[in-house]
Amino acid sequence: MSERTFSIIKPDATRRNLTGKINAVIEDAGLRIVAQRRIRMNEAQAKKFYEVHAARPFYGELVEFMMSEPVVVQVLEGEGAVAKYREVMGATNPADAAPGTIRKLYAESVGENSVHGSDSQENAALEIAQFFTETDIVG
Ligand code: GDP
Repeated sequence: MSERTFSIIKPDATRRNLTGKINAVIEDAGLRIVAQRRIRMNEAQAKKFYEVHAARPFYGELVEFMMSEPVVVQVLEGEGAVAKYREVMGATNPADAAPGTIRKLYAESVGENSVHGSDSQENAALEIAQFFTETDIVG
């Protein structure tokens, strides 16, 4: 079934001008970019987005990282988009990521790992709603 997922091209990737190369991997996988905006995340946005990790030792570093350079927030649409994008991104740590995945190709470290993708349909809906309204999304 066609569904939506939420994606972020993270600061390490925008800094290295990788937006187009990452979008090519996304589109080649059959996912459609139905909304996209380049933003500078503020502290409140970054903290809210990663609040599930608030107790983790790397939380402060993660929030600072997400604010350090512009990011590109996106809505992706396609058959099984949530699972498909997780597959296309590869493992959190690029050292463990499969060949051809975005993180294997481009990520610098477990923290600076180029992309975010929702881990469930429920979180996808919540994350999309943090950054987009329905009229922003053109399928
Ligand atoms: P994801 O769903 O694959 O993005 O992974 P997680 O939900 O486990 O972690 C969220 C994000 O936190 C990751 O994408 C990394 O940017 C960051 N992160 C996870 N583990 C670490 C870590 O050990 N150190 C640092 N600095 N960041 C981490």
